[in-house]
Amino acid sequence: MERGNIQSAVDEIRKVCAHTTTEPAELLLYSFDTMKIKRKPDCAVFPESTEEVAAIVKICARHKIPITPRGAGTGCIGGAVPIEGGVALVLTRMKRIINFNPDGLYVEVEPGIVNAELSGFLEKRGFFYPPDPASLKSSTIGGNVATGAGGPSAVKYGVTGDYVMGLTVVPADGSVLDTGIKTDKGVVGYDLKKLFVGSEGTLGIITKIRLKILPKPEAVVTATAVFPERRDAVSAVIAILRKGIRPRTLEYIDRTAIRCVEEYLKAGLPVNAGALLLVETDGKTAEAEKEMNDIKELCLAGGADSFVIAESGEEAEAQWKTRRSISASLNRLRPTKINEDVTVPRNRIAELMERTAEMSERTGLPIINFGHAGDGNIHVNVMTDANDAEEYELALKTVEEILDLTLALDGTLSGEHGVGLAKKPYIAREIGQPGVKISKAIKKALDPDNILNPGKIFP
Ligand SMILES: Cc1cc2nc3c(=O)[nH]c(=O)nc-3n(C[C@H](O)[C@H](O)[C@H](O)COP(=O)(O)OP(=O)(O)OC[C@H]3O[C@@H](n4cnc5c(N)ncnc54)[C@H](O)[C@@H]3O)c2cc1C
Repeated sequence: MERGNIQSAVDEIRKVCAHTTTEPAELLLYSFDTMKIKRKPDCAVFPESTEEVAAIVKICARHKIPITPRGAGTGCIGGAVPIEGGVALVLTRMKRIINFNPDGLYVEVEPGIVNAELSGFLEKRGFFYPPDPASLKSSTIGGNVATGAGGPSAVKYGVTGDYVMGLTVVPADGSVLDTGIKTDKGVVGYDLKKLFVGSEGTLGIITKIRLKILPKPEAVVTATAVFPERRDAVSAVIAILRKGIRPRTLEYIDRTAIRCVEEYLKAGLPVNAGALLLVETDGKTAEAEKEMNDIKELCLAGGADSFVIAESGEEAEAQWKTRRSISASLNRLRPTKINEDVTVPRNRIAELMERTAEMSERTGLPIINFGHAGDGNIHVNVMTDANDAEEYELALKTVEEILDLTLALDGTLSGEHGVGLAKKPYIAREIGQPGVKISKAIKKALDPDNILNPGKIFP
C-alpha cells in the first residue's frame, strides 16, 4: 500500500488536536511495549474526545497513514508498537468515567482510564469490576478491551469480553459506530461489539466502553496450599472445580518459581515444595468460608502438606506478594524471560507441565510454570540470555516446541496476551488457513487501506 505524505497529515492533525508531538525524544516513549521491539512513530497524538479521534482517523485515511492505538503500553506482544511508523494514537487523556449507573449495573468510561482506578471508584461505591490482569495498576480499560485481557478472577468471573456491554468505535473511515446494548441480553444483528474485543487496534479505535458491574462481594477468603508433588497440585485444581466450587482465584506456582521468589523476598517460603496453590473464595461471608473449608479438605486429602487460611488482610496480602513477585524474581535465573501465556484444557495441564519439564532437562534452559491453573492458562517462562546468540536460538526453538505442544494438547496459543507481532508467525497453526482467510476478509472490509495497526496479527 502506497502511503501518503506524513508531514501534510501531521499539519492537518495539529489543527484538530493541539496535543500532537513529533519530538524524537518524546516519540521514543511510544515506540515499544513490554515485548521490547522498537519502532518510533512519526508523530504521537493525544486526543481528548471521540470527535477528535474521528477527525484524526479521517485525516490519516485520506493520506493513507498508519495509526497505532495505544493505552499504557503494557502489552506483551508488540501490539502497541507502530511497526510501520505513522501516528501513535495515545488514548490516555481520555480517562473519564462518563456514567455510573448502579441500578442498571453498568458503568460507561473512556478507554484511557486505568483498570485499578475504575476498580477503586467502584469499590468505594460498593461495586466490583472483576477482570483483574496483573497489570491492573497501569493498563487501561481500552487496552484491556482491545486485547481481551483476563486475570486471576477469570476462573469464576470470566474475562474482559464478558463485561463489555457496548462500545463506541471509530473505524478506519473516521465514522463513529455505537454498538451494543444496555440490557443483559439482546440479539439484534451480528454482535459487532464482540468483533472489536480482542481486535488489538486493527479494526477500530475504541473511544467509549460500557461495562457490566457487580455488587462487591461481602467477603474474600485467601489461602495457600503447599503440595510436595506438582501433579497433586494440578489434580487438586480439577477436584475443586469438579466438586462445583468456583473459587475466585486458583493460581499455581511451581518449585523453581517458589525458590526464585524466596531468594528475592526472604519470606520463609517452602522451597522444597513441588508446587503451591493460591486460592480465594468470595461471596457472603459464611458461603466464602464454607467453600474455603471444602477446598482445604480436598487439598489435604489430595496430598497437600499444609493449607494456610489468611487470618487478616495483611496475611492475605503476604500470600499474594509471593504470586505477584514471581515475574520480578525470575531474572535471577537468566537475564531474558520469554513469557508465553498458553492455555490448555484443565485435564491436560499435568501433561503440559511434564513435557515442559522434559524440555527444560533436555535443553538446560530453566522453564518455569505459574499462573491461572483454574482456567488452564499457564505462564510458561523460558529463561535465557538474549546476548548469547546460540542459547537464544535454542530458547526460541523451545518456545516453538511449547506452542506446538499446546496445540497438540487441544489448547490455545494465547489465553490473554493476544497475537500482535509475537504470535503472528503461528496464528495459522491454530486457526487454520480458512480462519486466516475469513479474518483477513473482515480486516479488508473494515480497513481496506490497512491503516489501523498494520503489520499485526496476520503473517
Ligand atoms: C507485569 C504485567 C502483567 C500482565 N498481566 C496480564 C494479565 O494478567 N492478563 C492479561 O490479559 N494481560 C496481562 N498483561 C498484558 C497487558 O497488560 C494487557 O494486554 C493489557 O490489556 C494492555 O493494556 P494497555 O493499556 O497497556 O494497552 P497497550 O499495551 O497500550 O495496547 C495493547 C493493544 O491494544 C490496542 N489498543 C489500546 N488501546 C486501544 C483503544 N482504545 N482502541 C483500540 N485499540 C487499542 C493497541 O493497539 C495494542 O494492540 C500484563 C503485562 C505486564 C507488563
